[in-house]
Amino acid sequence: MRKPSIAVEEYLCILILAYSIYYSSRRGQTIRFYFESGNVNFSSHMVKCRNLLSRIKINSWILVLNKGVDGGKMKLTPNIYCYIWQGMGNNCNTYLFVGDTITLIDPGHIKNERQEPCLERLLGAMAKDGFKAEDVGLIILTHAHPDHCESASVINAGSAKIAVHRDKDGYAKMILEQMSRLFGLKPVEITPDSFLEDGDILHLGGIELNVIYTPGHSSDSISLYCEKEKTLITGDVIFSGSIGRTDFPGGSIDILKQSIERLSKLDVEYLLPGHMDIVSSKSNVQNNFTMVKRMFFGIS
Ligand SMILES: [Zn+2]
Repeated sequence: MRKPSIAVEEYLCILILAYSIYYSSRRGQTIRFYFESGNVNFSSHMVKCRNLLSRIKINSWILVLNKGVDGGKMKLTPNIYCYIWQGMGNNCNTYLFVGDTITLIDPGHIKNERQEPCLERLLGAMAKDGFKAEDVGLIILTHAHPDHCESASVINAGSAKIAVHRDKDGYAKMILEQMSRLFGLKPVEITPDSFLEDGDILHLGGIELNVIYTPGHSSDSISLYCEKEKTLITGDVIFSGSIGRTDFPGGSIDILKQSIERLSKLDVEYLLPGHMDIVSSKSNVQNNFTMVKRMFFGIS
């Protein structure tokens, strides 16, 4: 095949940059492009890019373009199912752990700002794997942002219990109200059945999840580490090539840095973020931590 001319590469590059900025602006994330000549700021979005198309590091948010609605359904291990959000609007990824208790982590929106039927799609994808909403015994929320927890109360209408980080200051309720208003949503309400703290270990019958308190994106953020499967769920703390926003109420870039430092010391084979694609393999996970720390915190 003939090598495309530089002009074509430049044109494609501009299209990808424009789409990436638009796409990232719909989500709670920061994206950085990196040029050989240095970092280039696109208002709050910094985008990672190396020279022209032939050298662009295409991140997961671009690869999403090539997937269908069901393209994000994946059985990661016999006990872990991933439902990676594939729509155009904002919603989070959902993860399902199969132990004696079936546990759903971050069920996401019911409908998002584009009126995409997020919960309907999730339940449809789960049904293809043989799970119904009524099968879910526990819902864990990594943090109280509407795009992670709006569906919880609907699924909870079955027998599922809801677990969140212990919220000593009533933060979650206040933030949920503020964030719902900010995104033009009906006020989201959740009624937790139990509270989680740093160091807790959840015994789910064949699966154990360690609770790690990782504030910074929000002050109630937790990550969940399954040591047996070497799997880490990070919510909006760290993504593939990016980090969660820190400009929402309760956010702090300095605290987020500490949380990411702490997570980077774990032995992780699969990093399962709240948005965008998962990061697989120990070396890719470590590279992701290294790259994110260098790009966002200047740590080499
Ligand atoms: Zn969030």
